[in-house]
Amino acid sequence: MIRITRKVFTDLSIFMIGLGLLIGFVFPFFVSWMGIPREYVFKPWFFIACVTAGIVVGALNISLARAVVGSRLKLLGNRMQYVTRNLKAIKAGQENVTCDAEQCQIKVDSEDEIGHSTAAFNSLVETLFESIETENSLATFNQLLGSQLALHDLTDKALQQFMLHTGSAAGAVLIEYEGTLHVSVSLGIKNVTSLIESDHVKNALRNERRIQISLPDDVQVEGVLTDFRPREVIIEPVLYKEVILGLIILATTKNYSNDALTRLNLFGQGLALALHNALLFDRLERLAALDSLTGIYNRRFGMTRLHEEFGRSLRMNAPIGVLMMDLDHFKQVNDTYGHLTGDRVLLRLARVARSVLREGDILVRYGGEEFLAILPGASRHDVTDIGERLRRKVSETSIEEGDESIKVTISLGGISFPENDVPNETELVNRADQALYLAKESGRNCVMMAGGS
Ligand code: GH3
Ligand code: MG
Ligand code: MG
Repeated sequence: MIRITRKVFTDLSIFMIGLGLLIGFVFPFFVSWMGIPREYVFKPWFFIACVTAGIVVGALNISLARAVVGSRLKLLGNRMQYVTRNLKAIKAGQENVTCDAEQCQIKVDSEDEIGHSTAAFNSLVETLFESIETENSLATFNQLLGSQLALHDLTDKALQQFMLHTGSAAGAVLIEYEGTLHVSVSLGIKNVTSLIESDHVKNALRNERRIQISLPDDVQVEGVLTDFRPREVIIEPVLYKEVILGLIILATTKNYSNDALTRLNLFGQGLALALHNALLFDRLERLAALDSLTGIYNRRFGMTRLHEEFGRSLRMNAPIGVLMMDLDHFKQVNDTYGHLTGDRVLLRLARVARSVLREGDILVRYGGEEFLAILPGASRHDVTDIGERLRRKVSETSIEEGDESIKVTISLGGISFPENDVPNETELVNRADQALYLAKESGRNCVMMAGGS
């Protein structure tokens, strides 16, 4: 297109008015050719009228074009500026900046080039804001998970985010831990333990690949897993440096969109890193807190726990008890069967003691063959009772060693607070130790309580 000035509408005006002028000039010849007598046509006033009419029509045309097309282009330009401003605000970290259809898009009301470019603009804006939204939620997700080292809190937050960003109605996070899968969190899933046994989960784990199961309405779902009828279920392995750390299971009432699957990919990578850190931290924490032979708390960590529990007992005005136990004549076991067998006896003793204690009780390997049980909430009567049960259970246990069956007994010293008024937890342990000494003095395989049995 030939350009005369730098303004499109000015060029268009020149062309239209010029065309009007030309038509106005040619019109009398045309009219004469059509048979109108020359004396009417070739008159100055007729020429002037035709040229004027041509110029007027040209000018009207250009005004119409300006009004119809120009206003649309202006609106498009204004919207573009508005979107640019919003984008800059979002980039600068300003919150509450949105760009919904009302604010940023333009109504498509013509089926031509204008309508086409308006629709293209709308989809550009939509894609732009969707990708910004994904980027922002990914950044928030990574930030949220990056600050979490506690496994349960981490998986709990991650699952909520996964469900939110994929439009899932139920889900679970399973973690592979010491060779077996454990359910870390689940939401809206009915039978969580059956998940671990499911063939789909085993397949996803074996092949380290996502499994997406569609369940159309006409397919019968056996053993309903969720509180609703799922339409699609995804089992997504969480891999860090090609090592499987766990699985995410998500279920939805409608089919997953491509966007949801893209978000799942992006968020999965963030979760893998966070989970790897949390598992590492958990392992380090365990190493620092647990006794390597028996797997129960070591003395250092046990005493920290006792300090916390004693403090809580003082604050809440609740009782607390401790039991100190020591294997009887353990030296003989070592001398007769060897140190390794002695170790196995200690491990077995820890397991037996753990099985007798309640969930909130804390079992500590206090020394070589000495164990401490911290019993929050236990009164003097409870301590005696638990001590007696421990003593009996140990004496009834046989440890098989080849053809031989080893039997051991323990002596126990117990104390309860506040029945025994002690100033701190160290004194609580000292008094339990003194009671244990009395139990040994009294012939072993018995329970002695501080302050008299
Ligand atoms: P009693 O307590 O009934 O007075 O007699 P005991 O023989 O158990 O007492 P003592 O304190 O004299 O001996 C404790 C023994 O426990 C000494 C040590 O060989 C053994 N022992 C301590 N720690 C371990 C351990 O980690 N593994 C094994 N196998 N033995 C240990
Ligand atoms: Mg001993
Ligand atoms: Mg001892």
